[in-house]
Amino acid sequence: MPRYIAVIDQGTSSTRCMIFDQTGQAVSLAQAEHRQFYPKPGWIEHDPLEIWRNTQTVATEAMQKAEINTDEIAALGVTNQRETVVLWDKNTGNPVYPAIVWQDTRSAEICERLSIEVGPDRFRTITGLPIATYFSGPKLQWLLDHVDGLRARAYRGELLCGTIDSWLVWNLTGGKDGGIHITDVTNASRTLLMNLETLAWDDRLLAAMNIPASVLPAIHSSSEVYGIAKGIFAEVPVAGILGDQQAALFGQTCFSAGDAKNTYGTGAFLLLNTGPKPVQSHHGLITTVAYRLGDGPSVFALEGSIAIAGALVQWLRDNLGLIRTSTEVESLANTVEDNGGMYIVPAFSGLFAPYWRADARGVVVGLTRYINKGHFARAALEATAYQTRDIVDAMCRETGLQLDALKVDGGMVVNELLMQFQSDILGIPIIRPALAETTALGAAYAAGLAVGFWKDIDEIRDLWQKDKEWHPKMAAANRERLYAGWTKAVTRSLGWID
Ligand code: ADP
Repeated sequence: MPRYIAVIDQGTSSTRCMIFDQTGQAVSLAQAEHRQFYPKPGWIEHDPLEIWRNTQTVATEAMQKAEINTDEIAALGVTNQRETVVLWDKNTGNPVYPAIVWQDTRSAEICERLSIEVGPDRFRTITGLPIATYFSGPKLQWLLDHVDGLRARAYRGELLCGTIDSWLVWNLTGGKDGGIHITDVTNASRTLLMNLETLAWDDRLLAAMNIPASVLPAIHSSSEVYGIAKGIFAEVPVAGILGDQQAALFGQTCFSAGDAKNTYGTGAFLLLNTGPKPVQSHHGLITTVAYRLGDGPSVFALEGSIAIAGALVQWLRDNLGLIRTSTEVESLANTVEDNGGMYIVPAFSGLFAPYWRADARGVVVGLTRYINKGHFARAALEATAYQTRDIVDAMCRETGLQLDALKVDGGMVVNELLMQFQSDILGIPIIRPALAETTALGAAYAAGLAVGFWKDIDEIRDLWQKDKEWHPKMAAANRERLYAGWTKAVTRSLGWID
């Protein structure tokens, strides 16, 4: 009887393979970073072949470390950085262009054209999304518009397109020798091409972006046996796919309407389960599929997406050299008592939710001679907490619900200063789970449910355990004074690009 579930967690900065046992404990982990390419301001690319090579390397390593063979693995789950687009030749298996990463803003003109006269909410009732460079459809249109011969080849049926999940599952199941070309509803709901009601590609959207349906993957649920892996995971059923944020929501066992989590990684993403009906947003949030298990009903979520969270810490490290490692940001921030009146609005690729302003750029405000590098570290961490407050406020306005606590995960939640400040600025408890790898875990749960490794979601809910909880300590007046400074700083970042 196979005793494990394996997961490929393909993130923006790195690719991990994790292996879980039936209690949800990770028994093995291997990780490899991949290169980030910045060919022009606003452009961000990955090499899809490097990502596929890393996937194979980390899979081998994770199995070797724990001395686990493929016949002990009941199923494989895949979770991935969302929206990032890969276009490849189905006969050679080679990408025809680098992967265009979710933060990339090169499709700004396309988005403007799509929004002309009707505005960015033109497709919102169909897709739940505003027209923005963030989503996959405009990125794919950019490829077909700008790279010679690609649209003709796409219409001839020579090319396949997909988000990273599609690219990996196609390769894992044999690639040009019979690989399956699929995606799941959560990833498809991020493309601006899928209809949220029918959960199918929508001809009106394909026509607006001049995209042939033949390049797109078949849309499946998030939990079912899609096919059997070849090569590295030979004979293992591929049985779960979830976009990374939906996977974290699932891994945090947010199965009931009203459950919410925030994931603090490169960006930050707050998702609120809203149950079986999509809730349209009027306050700058997006409506997305949370998950669908087999032929069960789809469950929807409202999402607040923040483009830059931990990436600002990386920027302090890589571009300013203020710290040597991300971890050091906390001790540096602890050298000062407060932000000294300064704010950083990290609108590096515009501002996402709830503003959706492509014309915003980063600003640092409130500088005086008093400010030192400790304040920079502190302001960088605070920026993540304020952006989260923007989202929580929008969600409360949208749903009329009051959040009574927020579950958190992601690379930044080891930062105690950030967690306490987040609790202070929201005025609610912050809860960190014992099983920190919630993204990979969510994909493991989806795959395991499909093959009967876990019986149902109640069994999974019982596996969730708390690690630590933070409570607000800040006086309300102080909280609102600090937050008012942030909202003022945001107004300074808007409209920087003409
Ligand atoms: P992703 O899945 O988006 O690649 P992770 O969840 O692995 O991201 O988180 C990595 C991010 O967390 C990086 O941007 C890094 O700068 C940030 N990070 C890591 N450790 C800390 C820390 N101690 N304090 C603040 N940020 C941190």
